[in-house]
Amino acid sequence: MSSLRFTAFNEVLHRTPVAPLVSYSKSSEIYGIRVFNKRAMREFIPKEAYENIMEAIEKGTIIDRKIAGIVATGMKAWAMSKGATHYTHWFQPLTGTTAEKHDSFFEPDSKGNAIESFEADKLVQQEPDASSFPSGGIRNTFEARGYTAWDPTSPAYIIGKTLCIPTIFVSYTGDALDYKTPLLKALNAVDKAAVEVCQYFDKNITKVNATLGWEQEYFLVDSALFNARPDLTMTGRTLFGHIPAKGQQLDDHYFGSIPERILNYMRELEAECLMLGIPVKTRHNEVAPNQFECAPAFEECNLAVDHNQLLMDIMSKLAERHNFKVLFHEKPFAGVNGSGKHNNWSLSTNTGVNLLSPGKNPKTNLQFLTFFINTIKAVHEHADLLRSSIATAGNEYRLGANEAPPAIMSVFIGSQLSEILDEIEKKVKAGKMSADEKTDLKLGIGKIPEILWDNTDRNRTSPFAFTGNKFEFRAVGSSANCSLPMTVINTIVAEQLTQFKKEVDVLIEKGVGKDEAIFKVLREYIVASKNIRFEGNGYGDEWVKEAEKRGLKNIKTTPEALEVLVSKKTKKLFLAHKIFNEREMEARHEIYLETYTKKIQIESRVIGDLALNHIVPVAIRYQKVLVDNVKGLKELFAGKEFQTIAGEQLEMIKTISERVSVIISSVNKMIEERKKANKLEHGKEQALAYCHKVKPYFEVIRYEVDKLELLLDNTYWPLPKYRELLFTK
Ligand code: ADP
Ligand code: MG
Repeated sequence: MSSLRFTAFNEVLHRTPVAPLVSYSKSSEIYGIRVFNKRAMREFIPKEAYENIMEAIEKGTIIDRKIAGIVATGMKAWAMSKGATHYTHWFQPLTGTTAEKHDSFFEPDSKGNAIESFEADKLVQQEPDASSFPSGGIRNTFEARGYTAWDPTSPAYIIGKTLCIPTIFVSYTGDALDYKTPLLKALNAVDKAAVEVCQYFDKNITKVNATLGWEQEYFLVDSALFNARPDLTMTGRTLFGHIPAKGQQLDDHYFGSIPERILNYMRELEAECLMLGIPVKTRHNEVAPNQFECAPAFEECNLAVDHNQLLMDIMSKLAERHNFKVLFHEKPFAGVNGSGKHNNWSLSTNTGVNLLSPGKNPKTNLQFLTFFINTIKAVHEHADLLRSSIATAGNEYRLGANEAPPAIMSVFIGSQLSEILDEIEKKVKAGKMSADEKTDLKLGIGKIPEILWDNTDRNRTSPFAFTGNKFEFRAVGSSANCSLPMTVINTIVAEQLTQFKKEVDVLIEKGVGKDEAIFKVLREYIVASKNIRFEGNGYGDEWVKEAEKRGLKNIKTTPEALEVLVSKKTKKLFLAHKIFNEREMEARHEIYLETYTKKIQIESRVIGDLALNHIVPVAIRYQKVLVDNVKGLKELFAGKEFQTIAGEQLEMIKTISERVSVIISSVNKMIEERKKANKLEHGKEQALAYCHKVKPYFEVIRYEVDKLELLLDNTYWPLPKYRELLFTK
């Protein structure tokens, strides 16, 4: 009998809920109390310096050393008043997690005394050893230095006794080694391009912020059961496991009541988030058993990305206290819904207008349509790049599976907006439009808000859907850093808006009225981007066929999707907007390929290990029990009678042998393929070999193992089963 599985299960049965540490009556009481936000800054920084820094943040200008020094002093005083003893630069290297290196404020002097010190230099810049972070060849081996530099647009905060300062992370040559650097550049690009276009409509608009509201899905598994599964501990997902008799078919988990142990965890998580200024609002059960979602109010994109990274970090740490493990993997359980991270995206102006929210009159609606149609056009032009921004080993198991958005990029806008676009297409003439025709058109678009408010057709199967006042990019994986998809969306929209401005200006110069010029270009875009619009069921096979007819790409694998990151078209786009230089793009491509290869390699090794060292031995042990039994029966019964009595057991003995044989031979073949793949020198060839030669064995081996799970004595089975992982509360 497998003791580990049963000891773990026993532990779970005796768990008692752990009460949350923080108690509060109103969220507003604790909101942001651990953040060096505007309120704290006003208290700890002299007025002039405060105004100076606010202006620099607003305009994106450089903060001079003197001001930085004043901020550092204020920040230290604030942090120490909250009990902080250490500080760290907090950054997002390309490992996909966050990194920190703690230093003490404590500074001994030559006389044997000590002071608490934190100067401008320490706030503004640090030099962590970059050699253990992925650089894709950017960093020379003799030059291991990397720099972290303060991002004043994302406020510092305190965790435990440490002041954390969000920073970018670059090599000594200035090349980005992180996720934040290109994101900030893309946000700047979309700001500039959008402001220029806004000037057609409202001269008061001088700043446009991209906004992001993510929805984080995750699974919670008891830590004892987690630890009893080497596949979960090593890869974050189950590599074997038969689906339980009851899965999610009753739909009884979705929005169901939340069990106390889990609720306690969520309560504590929310308190932590609120204190750190993460405006979490929503919590609910998801479709699958033990699957949940957490979502905040939307924020400025850079801050929202930081908050999501921070959230994932806190979630993992807090889970320990409650004896849970959080699974962020996109597909932790076969046959059970995977997890995503919907990225709700929009653009918001300094005048408080959401540019993707239909307005109250024809003028604001023309503005809305401009941004709406340009976004669709941007996705149409750069669908492949958008696809590549979410390409990871984990997401590959989810995309295109029957409950997740397909790997085909398309845009859903709903029937009412489709009608409006059709109207524009019909009514806007190539030649000069009459006054009546123009009035007619304006009346038409003036009606948008009334119609939209009762727009209830929400298509959940689209990877990129318009949901009333924002676009929702649903194909992002649950473990992803939102930065890359957000860098791509904001860059392609910046590019599209720049293009739009040029085309409209050409018409205006030719004497066409401004509104008419805008309509004319929008009409062209509607026609040009029609192919990407799809209102039907994105999960169906029909769509795969239809998309192929339309010429839309269905990039199924990660290595192929990543190729787009270094295509000529992508390079031109990113260079034009100064988001990445060529070296940075090549480096990222290499890093992502390598990460992919390593993940599949680890999974493959764990599969081999589990199959040969855990599953096959118990199968044989159980088979021996059957063999002994049959032998015993043979002593007692003879001839025909023996056949009747032992026939089924003999079949079982044979079946076990057959399955064990397939498992052993498949593992051996897989190892051979791995050896071949490891000899390949190019990152791309290697990733492709792992994808097309090694990975196909996963399913073959799993199929046999999962069948054995149904056949063997329950007490022999070494791994906690799906029903134990998913249904014990
Ligand atoms: P769903 O039906 O997709 O689950 P929710 O209401 O749970 O929708 O989530 C909506 C998400 O959209 C929230 O995270 C919210 O912050 C975000 N959101 C709302 N408006 C905007 C906006 N203007 N920009 C970005 N995100 C937004
Ligand atoms: Mg959503």
